[in-house]
Amino acid sequence: MTNKDKLKISEEAKNFLESEHLLFIDGEWKQSSSGEKIPVFDPATEEKIAEVQSGTTKDIDLAVNAAREALSGEWANIPSHDRAQILHRLSDEIEANFSVLSELEVLDNGMPLELAQYSIASHGVTLLRYYASWAPKIHGKTIPVSPGGAMNGESLTYTKREPIGVVGAIIPWNSPLIFAILKLAPALAAGCTVVLKPAELTPLTALYFGHLIEKSGIPKGVVNIVTGLGETAGDALAKHNDVDKITFTGSTEVGKKIVSSSINNLKKVTLELGGKSPVIVFDDADLEKTIPGVARACFFLQGQNCMAGTRVFVHEDIHDELVAGVKSMAESFQIGHGLIQTNDFGPLISGDQRKRVMKYIKQGISEGATLVCGGNEVNDRGYFIEPTIFTDVTGEMSIAKEEIFGPVLCIEKFSNESLEEIAKRANKTTYGLSGSVWTNDISTGHKMAALIDSGQVSINCHAAVDSAIPFGGNKQSGWGREFGEEGLDSYLKTKATTVMY
Ligand code: NAP
Ligand code: MG
Repeated sequence: MTNKDKLKISEEAKNFLESEHLLFIDGEWKQSSSGEKIPVFDPATEEKIAEVQSGTTKDIDLAVNAAREALSGEWANIPSHDRAQILHRLSDEIEANFSVLSELEVLDNGMPLELAQYSIASHGVTLLRYYASWAPKIHGKTIPVSPGGAMNGESLTYTKREPIGVVGAIIPWNSPLIFAILKLAPALAAGCTVVLKPAELTPLTALYFGHLIEKSGIPKGVVNIVTGLGETAGDALAKHNDVDKITFTGSTEVGKKIVSSSINNLKKVTLELGGKSPVIVFDDADLEKTIPGVARACFFLQGQNCMAGTRVFVHEDIHDELVAGVKSMAESFQIGHGLIQTNDFGPLISGDQRKRVMKYIKQGISEGATLVCGGNEVNDRGYFIEPTIFTDVTGEMSIAKEEIFGPVLCIEKFSNESLEEIAKRANKTTYGLSGSVWTNDISTGHKMAALIDSGQVSINCHAAVDSAIPFGGNKQSGWGREFGEEGLDSYLKTKATTVMY
């Protein structure tokens, strides 16, 4: 009996896993030109569950050509209200296939089922519907000036908002379906066409989504999905001279490569990159809410989360109480396969990722931080690591400076420093993605939030994400914003037209 049987996987998910996974190019499912395959694993069992095509430069070429053709074809002439309806239909398809998509996401990525369901419902479906409703609201302005010496009333300038063109979307493995939707929804609402390159470790829900795209009536070539390796398919897409924009979510290291790859044709680039976000807890914070909030901020998705609040700065008067509370929560997580409903803490994505996180845990100990709990690998099978907490951390330690992307919480104390001094410590990082402030003093909350150099700060909660709230990084956490109106804006370009009469 394999794990697939023991876990009571639905027939639908099993059939999908066992089917042949192809590239989706120009509305057709195709083999890769290399004939090579990439194995896909369940990170909770280390079992191979599928294999996908390893897309090549040639496959990327075909996909970009299809997207270029589609940009000026039927898609360009679909009225914006109908474009919105198509996105709503795609959303309906996700709702109709909600259960199998959630299962596949757990099997591929390892996240707990409840989290997969929550994210697909409240981010996936909502994002598509949110951007669907934007499609007919995209419009320009009229500008009342008289250029070139024209008399008042003798000229009119108006602007139009046009789709930016062919978009290459390169996404990571930590929330695979949501990232695919986060790229596609605003791009399609804006009228762009897309080539999507999912992460090699988690390609399955994007491919399933491809079948839903086919059903939803989106014209062929508008969305193309090429699975493959970052250094081949990803690199070919980033360098392609006929791609107008790359939207990338992933590591800062690869983000920098994307920027250099974009130089040839100066394609537009938006980057959502890493983070090392601060969580600042004042002595008047409501610990009943703060303790679970701090635990979730770090351990959500086993810490493989760009917004994770991994550096806690807590007032010395409540340090011990906070540490004890968060430790008790960390120890209460049920570690195991995400498809078993009682488990709420899954594996890391891969053996490499587990090795990387264990290396940081060992460094934390050798650099003199105090290990409060966790620090060990768990189970014989699957890439599990216990939720881990360090205290007595200083800003110089590697665990405090570098993005670990695993379940490791670093706690530092402060005493009666000014808000500016606390901010200086919190901002001493190359990243600037998220952060939170926990206090019952409204004035401290707002002042502290203003001093944190991040694209997103939350007060008495952490990482408040919503389709309508702009999200993105300062410093080396990225370029541009996703979600909300600003997210849509990055898929549009403005054309100004002046008429003299
Ligand atoms: P990654 O290694 O940067 O990979 C991201 C994507 O880029 C994958 O599809 C990858 O393909 C591809 N890629 C790799 N090398 C490439 C190259 N030379 N040219 C073009 N594409 C290339 O990141 P990851 O390890 O998957 O994800 C973790 C990182 O993502 C963390 O740093 C995390 O903070 C960040 N992240 C940021 C956000 C945000 O919104 N700011 C959200 C989630 C995650 P392969 O799959 O084949 O490697
Ligand atoms: Mg996998």
